[in-house]
Order: sequence, then C-alpha cells, then structure tokens
Amino acid sequence: MSTLQANPGEVSPADGSPLTAVTPLLPDLVRDVVATARAAQPVWAALSLAERTTRVRLIASTLLDRADAITDILARETGRSTLAARFPEVAIATDYARMATKVAAVALAPEKVKLSSLDMPGKRGVIEQLPRGVVGIIAPWNYPLLQLYKPLFPALLAGNTVVIKPSEHTPHSAAWLGALCDEVLGAGVVSIVQGGGDVGAALVTSGVDALTFTGSVATGRRVAAAAAEQLIPCSVELGGKDAALVLDDGVFDRTVSGITYSAFHNAGQDCAAIEVVYVVADVADALVERLGHSAAALRVGSETHSEVAPLQNAQQLATVEAHVADALAKGATLVTGGQRVGTGYGYEPTVLDHCNDTMLAVTEETFGPVVAVVRVANESEAIALANQSRYGLNGSVWTGDLANGERVARQLNVGICHVNGHGWTGSQAHIPWTGTKLTGPGVAASRHAYATFARPRVVMVDKTSKAEPFWYPFDDNMDAFSVALVDRSRGSLAALFRLIGLLGKRVRAATDIGKASE
Ligand code: NAD
Repeated sequence: MSTLQANPGEVSPADGSPLTAVTPLLPDLVRDVVATARAAQPVWAALSLAERTTRVRLIASTLLDRADAITDILARETGRSTLAARFPEVAIATDYARMATKVAAVALAPEKVKLSSLDMPGKRGVIEQLPRGVVGIIAPWNYPLLQLYKPLFPALLAGNTVVIKPSEHTPHSAAWLGALCDEVLGAGVVSIVQGGGDVGAALVTSGVDALTFTGSVATGRRVAAAAAEQLIPCSVELGGKDAALVLDDGVFDRTVSGITYSAFHNAGQDCAAIEVVYVVADVADALVERLGHSAAALRVGSETHSEVAPLQNAQQLATVEAHVADALAKGATLVTGGQRVGTGYGYEPTVLDHCNDTMLAVTEETFGPVVAVVRVANESEAIALANQSRYGLNGSVWTGDLANGERVARQLNVGICHVNGHGWTGSQAHIPWTGTKLTGPGVAASRHAYATFARPRVVMVDKTSKAEPFWYPFDDNMDAFSVALVDRSRGSLAALFRLIGLLGKRVRAATDIGKASE
C-alpha cells in the first residue's frame, strides 16, 4: 500500500508522511464506556445549570489557552495551514460556548403551565427539561473539532454525559479534546471511543439515550434506522449540495468574492459549500470569467497563506476526480483547475461551465474544490432547478435588489437561505443549522436542537381537597354540564352561567361518591 492509500488517519493529507496511529476500540467494549458514562451522569446532572455553564465555558477557555497545540494537531490531520485550522474551529470556541450557554438558559428554563382558573381551578404545574442520560455523538472529519463541540456543549449543559465517536480520519484532535475534558470535568463525563464504522454502529446500539449523527446520507440512514429500532431520539445532519443563484441585475464584487470563498474554503469539504451556481444567461459570461480568475488565484497547500488545503483523504480525492471527469465527458467546459497538485491530496480549485443536471457535479455531493456553473434563462428557471436537488441545507441568492433577493431566497427548499452570503451561520450557537430532504431532519445548534438533549417532564399539583366536577358519578347534572361545555365552547354566554350553577352540584356529587348512602 502506498503511503497515500494508508489507513484513515495515519498519513498527513499534505504530503503522505506518517501520523501516529490511534488504536481503535474493540466494538464490544463500547458498552463498557457507555456504562462508565452512565455512572458519572447523576453527579454531573446534580450540578446546577450555573455550575455546568461554568465548566463548559472552562472547557472552551482552556482550549483557547492551548490554541497552538490543538491548531497544530488539526493542521497535521487535515493538511490545512495553521491559519486555516485555527480560524474556523479554534478561534471561535469561547464565543461558541458563551452563546451556547445563553441558549441553554432559555431552552432549559422551567415553563409554568398556564391553566384557566374556571376550567381547571386549584391546580398549578410546570414543564421541566431533564437530561436524556447518556448522549452519543458520531462525527465526521471535515471540521474535526467544531463537529465535536457543537453537539457536546448543549448535551453537557442539559445534564447529560457524552460518548463521542470521532471520525477514524481525524482521531487526534478528538483524543486531545477528550483528555482536556477529563482534566476539566473529571473522568467519565466525556468519553471518546475511537474507531471506524463498526465502533460507530456499536455506539448506536450500546444503550445510549440519544444520538447526534453528522455525516453522509448513506450512514445517516443506517444510524437513524437503528436508533428508531431502539426508540431513542436521533438528530441526523447529512450531506449537502448547496446552490447559489446569481440574478440578472449584475455581477457584483461581493458576488464573486463570496461565491469563491463559499465554494473553496476548507477545500469545499463543507456540507454547506456552494457546489452549483445557477446564473442567469445575461450575466453568465461575466460571472464565469471573474470566478475563473478568482479560483485560479487561490493557492493550494498547507503553507500559512494557502487558501485551499489538500483534500483530507484519498477517497475524497477520488470522488472529486470522478465528478470532474464525468462533467467533462458530458460536455462541461473547464474554466480553471481540474488537476491534482502537490505531494498529498491537493486538487486545484476548479470551475466547470455549461453544466447540466445529467452531471454528477450538479446532482451528487462532491465535497471538494469544484464549482459547477449552470446557465439558466431567468430567475424562475434558477429556482426550479435549484429545488430539484435531493439535498436542502443552505441556498443563496446574489443580487443588488435585496427585496427581490429575499423573495427568491424564500422560494428555495432549504433549511437556511441567504441573500448575498452563504453558509456562515454554522458557527453560530443560537441559529438553527438544519436542512430539508436528504440533508436530514436534524437541527444542530439553537434552542430547537434541545429535543435531542433534554426530555420534558410535566409536574402538576392539585391544591384543592375537593373532587373534580367531571369525576364519577355520571348523573343528569353531569349530562347538563357536558352540554353546557359544548355550548360555552361555541360562544354562548348563557352556557357559562349554566356551568357556574352546575359546578357546585357536580363537585358535591363527586366528593360524596365514596360515602356510605344514608
Ligand atoms: P460518514 O458517514 O462516512 O462518517 C461519519 C461518521 O459515521 C464517522 O465517524 C464514521 O466512522 C461513522 N460511521 C460509519 N459507518 C457507521 C455505522 N454503520 N454506524 C455508525 N457510525 C458509522 O461521513 P464522513 O465522510 O465522515 O463525512 C462527510 C459527510 O458529512 C458529507 O456528506 C457531509 O456533507 C456531511 N456533513 C454534514 C454536516 C451537516 O451539518 N449537515 C456537517 C458536516 C459534514
């Protein structure tokens, strides 16, 4: 086996040099790790939210204190430059944690039950949010650290302990985060189980109480089905094939810069990377020319100012090459790129023009530095073609007319739609990250994600010592009572007075039911 075809996680994507191997856990041992997490959970859950908040923020601030160490690890295992590793994952960790704790305060706040004092007198109630127990997190490799702390922070804040199965392609950053969590929280609160799909599958059936899965559609389907079998909540965040729509009112500087960044950052290995551009014919030549120039100017590599890192693994490089070859064979034109570059898994930023929906680069997730341009007659055709996608994560509209842009954006069948921007909300803890269709129904981030991490418990207290008017025995007054209830619901004021008159009789009858008859 050549170095560039080595086992996942064991070679540098930048140059094929060896990385320290991380020993996978035997799948049979995953249950033991979950048992340890379960044993630690009551102690963690017994802390107040304020105490858990302090500790979660401490994880993030300790991470920042050691920013250089984790940045180096991330850079080595992804092939990114230190700049490209630090910027999207390390630099935002404390901000992310701070915002996540604010979200938690809202999502986990007890909610007083509101009841009509006429219909439900003498009662009070509250809806509380309880931890699920042990949460399993199964993560991909594209942002090896962010994809861990994004679900980890809310899971912990809700009072769960956590078992993480990181990607086998990027085990080192996860091992580092696990050690940091042990140091800050004590052992057992956050555990890492290393390994491939067999270890992930073992985690799904290990007895965890909830799961978050981020990864491909194929694996997500399997994980969701296995979780459904066990009746545990499972949030799945799957693939994307994001589109940008360029409308006919001109090609603006921001359009070119924005599409270039959103297509090629992290070498396009982003579920919300722009992979297809639908451009209205009138402005297509201008856009393609400028996009070609901007893509060709990007440097591929792992040096500080390289904008585009190598791909993370050999399989990803093979997918990218296959999609480009397929498009060219079916009539696309190569504007720029289209070649491997460097000593590792590097691939040139690639712009393909005259693409259509017979091409894999238009219909399937490429997850690489490739953007397919599809020329359309008008705005309506752009919307219709974009909505044919089987995925639905982000979508964007690029235009000088903000009102029209917003109108068009709302017609995209996606979870997050933008005007003159794309994909950036993935780093915001208070904004739902969610999609439609094959992207999956999961919600990451924001209070809407808490259905996975917490279960509602309702506590009701009856303060009265009297019986309820609708309890047994059923008698003529109860019959009249039920008729009055119907009439009252239909808006009758007279029925309301009848109800008040019947109330005392019904309460007396229900209270006396257990008394011996005279
Ligand atoms: P993948 O599905 O191959 O692997 C994801 C994780 O699942 C890995 O940890 C893997 O070991 C594990 N796994 C594999 N088989 C399993 C099984 N049978 N049971 C349980 N776990 C199993 O995905 P990947 O290649 O690591 O990640 C790339 C994909 O992730 C892309 O499709 C990308 O769009 C998607 N992604 C989505 C989002 C989002 O928020 N929607 C974010 C990042 C990445």
